[in-house]
Amino acid sequence: MTSAARTQLRVPYVIAHADEAAPQHLRFTRRPLGGLRLAYEDPRRGDMAHGALRVRVLNNRRGAPQWRMLNTLRQWRCMEKLLCQVCGEPATDPESGRIPWIMTDTAFRELPHEPTGGLTSAPPTCRACIPEALATCPQLHISSAVCTVARAIPAAVLADMFTPGPGGRAIPTGEHNVEISLSEDTLLTHALATQLIVQVHDLRPAHT
Ligand SMILES: [Zn+2]
Repeated sequence: MTSAARTQLRVPYVIAHADEAAPQHLRFTRRPLGGLRLAYEDPRRGDMAHGALRVRVLNNRRGAPQWRMLNTLRQWRCMEKLLCQVCGEPATDPESGRIPWIMTDTAFRELPHEPTGGLTSAPPTCRACIPEALATCPQLHISSAVCTVARAIPAAVLADMFTPGPGGRAIPTGEHNVEISLSEDTLLTHALATQLIVQVHDLRPAHT
C-alpha cells in the first residue's frame, strides 16, 4: 500500500509508533531457588506477565506508525481484556456474547487435540471495525476468515531469546518470535516476550 493511501486510514490501536521504543538494559540474575533468569537491571512492577519477562515499551502513540510492528503493551491489553485491535474498545458482541475475530494464515495455528479452537497472536476485532481492518490490509481478504469465538485464554508468548554471558551479561541468541508455552518455565527464563498468544475456544465462521 502507498503511504498516500495509508494516510486515509486510522492507525490501528495495536500498531507501534516510532517514539514508543524504550531502552532495554537486560542481564541474567540468580534466582533464590537456583538457576539464572533474564531480568531488567532496574526491575519494576509490570516487567513480568504470566511468568514471562515482557519487553518494555512506551504507550503514547507518538511518532510515525510502524506498520509491521505491534506495541507490546497494547497487544497484551487487547488479548487479556478482549479489546478490538483497531479501535481499542471491548470487542465482545453484546448481543451474542461472542468475540469477533479475524483469523489469518500467518497468525493462527490449529491444535491437533482441539478441533474447534487454536492459537493466535492477533487480537480480536469488534464487529464495527471488521470492514476497516479488511480494508487496511488487502492481504487479509485473501488469507483470512472472519470468525467468532466463545472465549480466549492466555497460552503462550512470542519472544526474543537470550543466553547468559560473562558476569550475567544478556547476549541475544538471534532467535526472534519464538513461541513458548506459558507452562515452559525453563525456556521462559531465557526469553523476552513481545506478544501474548491466546488459545481460542469454540471457533466458528461468522454469520455475514
Ligand atoms: Zn473496533
